[in-house]
Amino acid sequence: MIINNLENRIAKALQSPLYQKISDLAEECSIPTYLIGGYVRDIILERPIKDIDIMVLGSGIEMAELLAKRLGKSVKVTVYKNFGTAALRYKGLDIEFVGARKESYERHSRKPQVEIGSLQDDQNRRDFTINALAISLNKADFGTLIDPFGGIADMQAQLLRTPLNPDITFSDDPLRMMRAIRFAVQLGFTIDDEAMEAISRNASRLEIISRERIIDEINKMMLTQRPSIGFKLMDRCGILPLVFPELAAMKGVDEIDGKAHKDNFYHTLQVLDNICQTTDDLWLRWAALLHDIAKPPTKKFIEGQGWTFHGHEFLGAKMVPGIFKRLKLPQNEKMKFVQKMVLLHLRPIVLAEDIVTDSAIRRLLFDAGDDIDLLMKLAEADITSKNETKVARYLANFKLVREKLKEIEEKDAVRNFQPPVSGELIMETYGIPPSREVGLIKDAIKEAILEGEIHNDFQEAFEFMLRKADELGLKRIK
Ligand code: ATP
Ligand code: MG
Repeated sequence: MIINNLENRIAKALQSPLYQKISDLAEECSIPTYLIGGYVRDIILERPIKDIDIMVLGSGIEMAELLAKRLGKSVKVTVYKNFGTAALRYKGLDIEFVGARKESYERHSRKPQVEIGSLQDDQNRRDFTINALAISLNKADFGTLIDPFGGIADMQAQLLRTPLNPDITFSDDPLRMMRAIRFAVQLGFTIDDEAMEAISRNASRLEIISRERIIDEINKMMLTQRPSIGFKLMDRCGILPLVFPELAAMKGVDEIDGKAHKDNFYHTLQVLDNICQTTDDLWLRWAALLHDIAKPPTKKFIEGQGWTFHGHEFLGAKMVPGIFKRLKLPQNEKMKFVQKMVLLHLRPIVLAEDIVTDSAIRRLLFDAGDDIDLLMKLAEADITSKNETKVARYLANFKLVREKLKEIEEKDAVRNFQPPVSGELIMETYGIPPSREVGLIKDAIKEAILEGEIHNDFQEAFEFMLRKADELGLKRIK
């Protein structure tokens, strides 16, 4: 990467009148003030700006309150007393003021002892050299970059390095290992060899980090263009089996009688990257990651047939709630959606392999409902064969399946199936209470529609009901 106009990038960011106001304030209160951390990194890498981190040698709360007064009445300050931090929201950005700190850690805890520190102390406690840059907002050297650890050179080399000894950095706060991997994926940077080795040595320290914070990093990875990079890194440094044993179990290839199956870990990662090309939906991406999760526990070698994974879609769907719970992912309709996608992921492929009958299409529409388009995306992403003819044939067949889906939905509207004859009507017509017979008739009507024996239409369904009730020996009273 060539950052040849570093000064311009900084000058451009500092053009905002906001920084003049902060600089004036810093001068008046004699509180040295700096832009720092992720914000400086993102200015220099020209990434979208999310929040502004400001570090002061003094009280962050006092600075924030004074600035808010100058910016206008409507600007509210949120104070986090415990951390000596204050934040305010201005023009859609969160501006956070933090007093410079010095941190020291004890081995059994991830909560550091914090004391007031110098600029240098505060830069020392940062996780990566590219996150430890500061820009002065003080009158004397306004706009000067302070880069004690060669952060700019590391940006040029696209390298993630810790400012201090990586073993100490990662052992002090093991979340930094997940942050390293997440930044590697987000920025397309390489983790420096020494840091990578230190991560491998300290991987087990992640156990002191809450799952919520770990999954935050994983979700940030999941939302990038190529999350596979992150999972491969987690695998390489030994984090994967600790955080995500089900995924780690997918690695590897078995061979019997010269027959090998594909490596399900790499296949899954390919499917995940594929789907990232067609959707930004985090949960569809999770469905891609988990679609084959039950392949290891269902794997069998059958003489004459080779490797099979019978029922992996059913077991996989069953495994989803446990995985979501452990990883602290939501236990709500998002999880149900992922379960449904895992359960149904083979259905479009089976259709694409076979001659497509209308009734098979109707059943798929009925089962997938409004998620049918997302399910089709997942099935298409699942085609990872290296054989181009095969891929082309599948994709052509999927096109056919999509056309059929559209045609049949227009004709039969089973996507959001509502029974054309209600249970109440059946009960009224035959003067019967809620009973097995009502269920049988309703089911038979649904089956007849899905099989294409009758249309999804009240009159046809009503007549079908009369015939079915007759068979059951019911007497019409209305
Ligand atoms: P993003 O905002 O994209 O998640 P970021 O690096 O800006 O990434 P923040 O949580 O906003 O992350 O933190 C701001 C800065 O605080 C970081 O750039 C880094 O300098 C420092 N920081 C955050 N978390 C840690 C940590 N666990 N260890 C050391 N420094 C940290
Ligand atoms: Mg940030």
